[in-house]
Parts: sequence; C-alpha cells; structure tokens
Amino acid sequence: MAMLTTDERRMLTMTKNETISLIAAKAVETVVEEETFPETKFSLWRQILRESVTSVEDLQRVCKADLDVTELKEVVKRYPMRVNPYFLSLIKEKGDAIWKQCIPDRQEIQDTTGVEDPLAEETHSPVPGLTHRYPDRVLLLVSNQCAMYCRFCTRKRRVGDPFKRITKEQISKGIAYIREHSEVRDVILSGGDPLMLSDGYLEWILKEVRQIPHVEIIRIGTRVPCSLPQRVTPELCMMLKKYHPLYVNIHFNHPAEITPESRMACEMLADAGIPLGSQTVLMKGINDDPAVIKELFHKLVMMRVKPYYLYQADITKGTNHFRTSVKKGIEMIEAIRGHTSGLCVPHFVVDAPAGGGKIPLLPDYLVEHTGKKVVLRNYQNRRFEYPEPE
Ligand code: SF4
Repeated sequence: MAMLTTDERRMLTMTKNETISLIAAKAVETVVEEETFPETKFSLWRQILRESVTSVEDLQRVCKADLDVTELKEVVKRYPMRVNPYFLSLIKEKGDAIWKQCIPDRQEIQDTTGVEDPLAEETHSPVPGLTHRYPDRVLLLVSNQCAMYCRFCTRKRRVGDPFKRITKEQISKGIAYIREHSEVRDVILSGGDPLMLSDGYLEWILKEVRQIPHVEIIRIGTRVPCSLPQRVTPELCMMLKKYHPLYVNIHFNHPAEITPESRMACEMLADAGIPLGSQTVLMKGINDDPAVIKELFHKLVMMRVKPYYLYQADITKGTNHFRTSVKKGIEMIEAIRGHTSGLCVPHFVVDAPAGGGKIPLLPDYLVEHTGKKVVLRNYQNRRFEYPEPE
C-alpha cells in the first residue's frame, strides 16, 4: 500500500469542507499535482500563486475592509476562494468590478434558483471529464484548479474541490475516447484552467491529442492571461507553438483587467502564432454598461484578441446575483454594432439550459419581409428596402 502523506492522513479525519479549505490553502502543491512532470525551476507565477488569499481571515487582513467574517466563511466552505496577489492588486475599492468577480459574497449561498450543472455537461459525458455535445467537437477537462476562483463560475460545482481533481488516468480515458471517435475534429481543453498544469504535463496532453489523425484543431480555454499573466512564459509559448493549429480562448470581463502584464501575456501568445479570442460574461454591476463593454472590446482588439462571445450568464447555483435579462444582452449588441468596427463585436449567446448548446441572439434588423422585398433597419434605425431576386 502506498504511504500516505501527512496531509492525506489529515484528510481522512476531516469533513469535505475542511478538506477544501486545506487544499485551497496549499495552492501550489495542488496546482503541481502531476508527480510525473515535476518542475524544479523557480517560477514567478508559482510564487505569486503561493501567496494567494484563500481564507476569510487573510482576506480581512489584506483588504482592511469591513467584512462579515462568519457569513463569508460559510460561503468559502461551500465554494473555495483563491485570489492571487496580482488579481487582488487590480481592486481599486470595495465592491468594484474586480472585487465582485473574486471576493465571496453571501448571496452565493442564498441562491434558490440556480442549478449545479446548468449546461448538463455531466449528462453529455460519455467518459468522466469529457463532454461530447456537438457532432464534431469535444470538451476535455484537464484540471480543476484556477489561478483564482471566479465567483460567477459555471463550473462552481467542481473548481477547487479536492474530491474532483482530474487525474492523469481520467485524462487518458478522455484521449482514448477521442481516438476512437473519428468524427471529432476539434478538441477544447478546459477545466478549471489548463494553464495551471506544468508545461511538461500540458505538453503530454497536447502531444497525445495532436497524434490523433482526425483531430484538426486544438483549443485551450484559459483565464490565466487575465488572472495570472505571469504564467505565460517564453518556455510555455515555445512549447505551445509546436502543436498548431492551436487556438486560445481567453476570458476578460472588464477593461480594468487589461494591464501591461496581461497585454504582454496576450502579445507573447499572439507572437507564437496562436489566434486569440475572448469570451466575456455579461454580469450585473460588472460590465452591463455599453460604454464599459465597448472600451473592453476596443482594448482587446488592440492586443490582438478578438472578442468572440458575449455570454448571457448561465443559471448556475450561487451566481443568480450576477444575472442580467436576455433583453439587456441584446441591447448591448445594439449599442455597439455599427457604432464600432465589426471586429470589436462578438456574438451574444445564450448557452441553453439542459445542454441545448449555444444559441446566438441579435437585435432584430429585419423589419418586414414580403415575397418581393425586405425592409431592413440599420444601426441608426433608418429603414431601407432591399429587393429580393426575381
Ligand atoms: S477561471 Fe474559468 S473555470 Fe476557473 S473559476 Fe474562473 S470562470 Fe471558472
């Protein structure tokens, strides 16, 4: 029988919530969970991660803000907290857009409307950690760790939970599934955050997937260039560029997230020939203002990141306080389409509950359609007749 570590022995006598707190506190050890791919060199990003705030006591000490410690402890017991010092440094004041994204809120445990798995990812999972919903593409979860735990996360049910860590064996089973399904031409690595894995571990996954002849495209979904840009190192970029065509989808929500550090991370990835897209979640009190969204999309394009999706927030348990109306999302697109270049305008999508997939929504530009002509309106609400072909 394998020898248990001190922490593993402790865990045997702990409740699940106590174990989550222990694991969250041991940020680095859980990030480098791949004993077979040890990284021995000092790295700045690991050092920053090691100093993450993971307990309410630390949060109060660091923020010097008036917090309801008892209530927040209940929240953190249920949904782990990790705020690394870099992301924490972006907070300008209590309750601002950065604060709301990373600091626990009692409303998370008061939500009576959300569901644990709003996109039914587990239902469409032929092997654990792999979702096969669309005909030609799959989602492969490779880590349940993140550089910080976003309070609005759709995968709140799994991120940071030590009982839901993703093992190498599980990933191998997912890769075997892809190998056996020749219809899969596009593989999305997600999590948690794939860039929380060591370069060696991530390269093992990329190499295995790239060797499958029918896989044409690999995509990585990550928030790291925004939440811990120091993780994007020259070594990482050198490794990633070996596995083209490789796309990276980043997740930025607010212009305050765009800093010299995040800009450099995006530029390094772009210089490695990796096309970058951003997935932004529309959230109440964070970015549900056309001026804020427009500024964000302009800044993204300036650093070679294409605004790809603007998401309606999912109906995830613990996140109801972030949700906006669908009408609000359509209004946001109406406010920017035509008023800025099309390059800066993403698709507004609702990820349909119960696994219905992404459904794009647009303002209605088609005013009337008779057999012979259509009446259209432009972004200034001016109307134009357009004849159909005879
Ligand atoms: S980085 Fe992504 S997966 Fe991780 S907590 Fe944030 S939204 Fe969730």
